Amino acid sequence: MTQGAKGIIFIGDGMGGRPCPELDGQTTLEAANTPAMDRIAREGSCGLMDPISPGIPAGSDTSHMAILGYDPYKHYRGRGPFEAKGVGIEVRPGDVAFRCNFATVEGRDVIDRRAGRIKEGTDQLAAAIQEQVPQIEDVEIIFEPSVEHRAALVLRGPGLSHEITEVDPHDPDVPYLDSKPEEGAKDMAAAEKTARILNEFVKRCHEVLEDHPVNRERREKGEFPANIALPRGAGTAVDLQSLEARYGLHAAMIVEVDLVRGLGQYLNMDVIKVEGATGGQDTDELAIAKAVVAALEDHDFVLANIKAPDLGGHDGNAQMKIEAIEKVDRALGHLLESLDWDNTTIMITADHCTPCSIMDHSGDAVPIAFFGNGTRPDDVERFGERACATGIIGHPRGMEIMDILLNMMGRAEKFGA
Ligand code: ZN
Ligand code: ZN
Repeated sequence: MTQGAKGIIFIGDGMGGRPCPELDGQTTLEAANTPAMDRIAREGSCGLMDPISPGIPAGSDTSHMAILGYDPYKHYRGRGPFEAKGVGIEVRPGDVAFRCNFATVEGRDVIDRRAGRIKEGTDQLAAAIQEQVPQIEDVEIIFEPSVEHRAALVLRGPGLSHEITEVDPHDPDVPYLDSKPEEGAKDMAAAEKTARILNEFVKRCHEVLEDHPVNRERREKGEFPANIALPRGAGTAVDLQSLEARYGLHAAMIVEVDLVRGLGQYLNMDVIKVEGATGGQDTDELAIAKAVVAALEDHDFVLANIKAPDLGGHDGNAQMKIEAIEKVDRALGHLLESLDWDNTTIMITADHCTPCSIMDHSGDAVPIAFFGNGTRPDDVERFGERACATGIIGHPRGMEIMDILLNMMGRAEKFGA
């Protein structure tokens, strides 16, 4: 049991948006039925936040970094290290880490970048790669599956560089690429070596997977074989001060995405996995809410994220996004009932907008609301993009949120005499 004021940041991933024509010009957040969020907004302090800075479409990783007070422009080293850390690979100084997609290729042509969104068998495929391609030249290969079609790759050895171009073409029906040193790479010899090893890895990986039993079975069922792993997002080890050292908060993270979980591990937060938290539309939001309540028993601070709203945004499916937002609201409803709000402050927000009209992240500001201990009410009556714009918090950036929260929690340090 920790003493003192508690804090929560609760994020509906990609929950912000733009007006949808099919919702009479409302956003999905405005159209959704959200009694808990509306109470938080009505009784609490609202505003709009630029997760990174105005107009910059944030990734989930860079946004969470900024919201926790770590400048992504200073500390971000690509997604690879977070994905790798999130699946439990230690990324050491000198390592180069990648995210990978299991994909389907014919010859060099990428037929499906996600191998039909393969869900099962990737652990066997990854084990085969790890067993048959343990090393290339003097570089150790570490390969682990992540959720669905995702995986992580770490190259470990002397003289490597992250300054290389992508293998994944990011488009279907085009050939995958040969990695090359980036133009103007600082260490050209290291970049050449890394690109050579990466290209060899991709080739060997294809040879291992092409006739793997998992893929033979997929072909028989008429499914896309996962016959290659395409690396992207090269990055090097991240060096971040722990959240506890930075703020004096014993902290936990409850999130569904390996990428953000990896950030939590770099920050030395207790990363708690929740049974039933799938990262999908079917996630158990009450299990997540209960895990937050339980974590606050012995932590000062919890960051939680429910992924589902982002999925509806990426699919351009407003109804799906509304249902996901209502899930987030049910989780918040449980928190409102369960916690001592004289001693607890919560901030609710999205890590970025994922408008259904764009089907990707946009650089629009997201609504925020603080509720509980230390907050001052304003005239905002409900939680949404336009309602929160008139709130008392105004328009901070993600990097300023922890200071605002610490002040409400009574844990901010005085600056000056
Ligand atoms: Zn996100
Ligand atoms: Zn997204």
